Amino acid sequence: MIYPIVAYGDPVLRKVAKEIKNDGNTDLPKLINDMFETMYLANGIGLAAPQIGLDIRLFVVDGTQLEEEGEDMTTFKKAFINAKILSETGEKWAMEEGCLSIPTVREMVSRHKTLRIRYLDENWQEHEEEFTGMQARIIQHEYDHIQGVLFTDYLNPLKKRLLKGRFNSISNGTVSVDYRMKFPMVKI
Ligand SMILES: [Zn+2]
Repeated sequence: MIYPIVAYGDPVLRKVAKEIKNDGNTDLPKLINDMFETMYLANGIGLAAPQIGLDIRLFVVDGTQLEEEGEDMTTFKKAFINAKILSETGEKWAMEEGCLSIPTVREMVSRHKTLRIRYLDENWQEHEEEFTGMQARIIQHEYDHIQGVLFTDYLNPLKKRLLKGRFNSISNGTVSVDYRMKFPMVKI
């Protein structure tokens, strides 16, 4: 199932998402699969559950098509359940980011180079791993989503002011986008 992607301005993107309980009630494998499908159709490399309207601590990443110098991206396809970033270290580095919930906006964001994270995979196996470079950046961006944070929050006040019109056009659905979205200001 392909979900519409929730656009900037929807309150679900601002919630601190809830832990997922392993009570056998949710069909998590199907949901994870659907999230990957939804992400691929929108040409994304990461997607968090709030972006499909669910305030639960789940995100998926797939950077296997990216070629990063000095980084092996070929195995970087994962689901993160109930993730917790334990530490962020290393120098901050800036890179242009975008977000499927904020189409047409791309801005430079500074993030720490390395992180340590604890999470459960789709089989409820616990992992504690270190990621660095591009992989760390993708995880930091998606982790922010389950904390109710968007990459545009890091922009300076002037930049945010300049982008206000664009944010409005994203919220009211007048932005041009080639995947299905749910716009908070559009009544169905
Ligand atoms: Zn995003």
